[in-house]
Amino acid sequence: MIETLGVAFAYPGGQRIRFNDVVVEQGGTLLLRGPSGSGKSTWLALVAGLLTPTAGLLRVASQDMAALGPSARDAWRARHVGFLPQKLHLSDALNVFDNLALAYFAAGVPLDRAAVTQALSALGLDGLGGRKPMQLSGGQAQRVALARALLLHPRVVLADEPTASLDDAACATALQRLQQSAQACGATLVVATHDARVLQALPQAQVLGFHAVAGGVAP
Ligand code: ADP
Ligand code: MG
Repeated sequence: MIETLGVAFAYPGGQRIRFNDVVVEQGGTLLLRGPSGSGKSTWLALVAGLLTPTAGLLRVASQDMAALGPSARDAWRARHVGFLPQKLHLSDALNVFDNLALAYFAAGVPLDRAAVTQALSALGLDGLGGRKPMQLSGGQAQRVALARALLLHPRVVLADEPTASLDDAACATALQRLQQSAQACGATLVVATHDARVLQALPQAQVLGFHAVAGGVAP
């Protein structure tokens, strides 16, 4: 479950962004819709505890975010949030298997090698564990990032513009995979997008609207 009430945020020297309130039940799907620069990525960072709101209440998977100090927040995020950032943040210094293993180290959970192998297999990535991320296609890299995000059965999966570089067929498949994977572990799924195709592919999703920030400039 995700619940926000009166949440606002301002980057240093930037406009104050005031977010609409929302309640998403555990296991539900939420789309963040709005133009580039309207605050969708910022909302994801707030829910992930990467940024602290300047006002308002944020409850994520029963956790009041304001109750966590910085290091508790890092531990909480590693354990309960599966994050699929727009840039995938796979390490090219590590092979695919070790990129997944990182999720365990970050969360302070003992490595389960069989679970890593199984997670790769579930996403059609058998035999790719020894490759470096740069030796994967774009679609394979995205599935590796998804496998890593889901590995510890997070309560919340946050995907930032997951369809930005995909054609129509790949877009529909990727969204189905994302939703099925999140549902299989009972996670609440949030997809931030300015891609109109996402709404068609996930018609039953709840929608949170974002509006252009006055004077804002898209990064
Ligand atoms: P979206 O994801 O909808 O494109 P963002 O959340 O990235 O929107 O950005 C919202 C607003 O905050 C924009 O005006 C953007 O320029 C600004 N912004 C985003 N990231 C930063 C940052 N790190 N520092 C300062 N301003 C930022
Ligand atoms: Mg964004």
